Amino acid sequence: MSQSVPAALRLTIDGDALAANWRWLRARGGEAACGAAVKANGYGLGARGVVERLAREGCRDFFVSNWAEAAALGPMPEGATLSVLHGVREADMPAALSGMARPVLNSAEHVARWKAAGGGVCDVMIDTGMNRLGLRPEEAGVLDGLAIETLLSHLACADEPDHPMNARQLAAFRQVHAAIPAKRYSLANSAGICLGAPYAFDLTRPGLALYGGVPVPDDASQKEGLRSAALIEAEVIQVRDVEEDESVGYGATWIAGLPCRVAILNVGYADGYLRGFSNIGSWRSRDATYPVIGRVSMDLVAIQVGREVREGDWMALDQDLPALARMSGLSQYELLTTLGHRYQRRWT
Ligand SMILES: *Cc1c(COP(=O)(O)O)cnc(C)c1O
Repeated sequence: MSQSVPAALRLTIDGDALAANWRWLRARGGEAACGAAVKANGYGLGARGVVERLAREGCRDFFVSNWAEAAALGPMPEGATLSVLHGVREADMPAALSGMARPVLNSAEHVARWKAAGGGVCDVMIDTGMNRLGLRPEEAGVLDGLAIETLLSHLACADEPDHPMNARQLAAFRQVHAAIPAKRYSLANSAGICLGAPYAFDLTRPGLALYGGVPVPDDASQKEGLRSAALIEAEVIQVRDVEEDESVGYGATWIAGLPCRVAILNVGYADGYLRGFSNIGSWRSRDATYPVIGRVSMDLVAIQVGREVREGDWMALDQDLPALARMSGLSQYELLTTLGHRYQRRWT
């Protein structure tokens, strides 16, 4: 990467907010240890930086999706371990046997593969109703003889606290807890932690809320307790005057009712500012808020501004993830994980 050229697009990661969110989630989990999901490059923020910052806070259990992510992450800090959620395909075995991480075995096939290779300590996922990854509880017989560090399951509806599925999965996981021996048990993601202490067991696995996502935005305590950990800023690379009745952008979806001034920002859908923000989004500079006009392009977006805005100014995106999600029709997860690779990243 030629980082000698300063980018006109920045992502500032607030390490203190990340750490504070982790401590808030740990406290919500009561006695349980609090881990961290850093898959998808730390939900777009940069997995290595997230691991290092949270390890300094005392986080010891990290999760990625696959072995390529585990390899990219590099060695874990002293005392910390990494688990690979997608388990082991045949092609993963060399990486898995290298000891860089523990696999989360998800199927009888994974278990057989791991046993045949004499793989050692592992994690196991039991499906308690989501029907995504994991063995059915009835298949638990195949686990005999395995050294299971953490036995996991995953909640399908935790961000809907009143959904009957939550209690059903909790009851199913309690039965699994009684029937399958493991060193530790883990059920809750971010939203699961917010369902209350009974969901925490020995270890929780938050992702979204670490990064400032709010699982249930209507819950005032979550809104107050969780802070955005990512600030996005884009530079104004041109300012232009637009005449009455002229249009702005692809599809000419915005027409000027009166002569006005338009600033063009160096950010677009390739940077995760997706088309759902067309004619709806807004950007901030020095306490003023400016609306997005027209369609978001791949690399550019137009905003309506006043005389005070100049080429070279920087605009910030509102950091309220639930509000951005509502506005754009995207999930908070999508907003984070689609950020892309063109940001100049820095930590504060
Ligand atoms: C992604 C993931 C998590 C973290 O979920 P969030 O909703 O982001 O907190 C936890 N457990 C598993 C199995 C996951 O796939």
